[in-house]
Amino acid sequence: MTEDEIQSAARAMGITLDAAQAGALVRFRDLLVEANRRFNLTALTDDASILALHFLDSLTALPVIRKIHADLGSAPDLIDIGTGGGFPGIPLKIAMPELRVTLMDGTAKKVRFCAEVIRALGLRDICAIQDRAEEAGHRPEHRERYDVVIARAVAPMPTLAEYLLPFARLGGTCIAMKGSDAQAEAARAAGAIAKLGGEITDVMPVSLPGRDDRRALIVIHKLRPTPQPYPRRGGAARHSPLR
Ligand code: SAM
Repeated sequence: MTEDEIQSAARAMGITLDAAQAGALVRFRDLLVEANRRFNLTALTDDASILALHFLDSLTALPVIRKIHADLGSAPDLIDIGTGGGFPGIPLKIAMPELRVTLMDGTAKKVRFCAEVIRALGLRDICAIQDRAEEAGHRPEHRERYDVVIARAVAPMPTLAEYLLPFARLGGTCIAMKGSDAQAEAARAAGAIAKLGGEITDVMPVSLPGRDDRRALIVIHKLRPTPQPYPRRGGAARHSPLR
């Protein structure tokens, strides 16, 4: 995967990356492939899959975040819940350097990897922290603090809503990056989202250049404060999802 290939694939999605940004993604790919030899970070190890299914897929959320940036008039504060190897947070940060990013994951070695990437790429205004959404969502430094709360491939929508909504400030936005079943997932989670203070404003189809698998972003607006019992601790969000 060369810088040119990354730039032209991004261009096909309407995203302009300069040589330094494309170079940062190449370096990120190298670190990902190298770390994946030591422990399991991603099932995708060939260049084409990393480019399409990690980098470009992460960037499908960029237009929504740019719109939020324009409406706010300043760079949004974004948290990526269950970031794993840094997706979607690191590609979004590279593509939009002014974004302030918190990467959160429950697994220490994944967080250490993200910290290594941040250091190696010299990224600023981005940090990686080890925490669980159910715990961090109650901490004053995180609760209702973020303009954008995003997650990809973390949990089914009703559970994910309980993880995400507590982090969003009033008027903030949650973005759940989902696959072809997004409409049905959104419908199943509408009651849970309302209980948590949110409302689905869009289920936005997105596509990747040269691929026909269907994906969508479930976009949720935070209207009211999330009631204090949420997120429930001890795995309840996972075992007994809200309805
Ligand atoms: N978002 C990344 C991506 O799209 O490649 C990683 C997806 S991976 C399938 C799910 C990640 O979510 C794992 O790294 C896991 O540790 C993390 N995770 C799951 N539940 C979590 C929770 N309750 N709090 C924090 N992280 C969680």
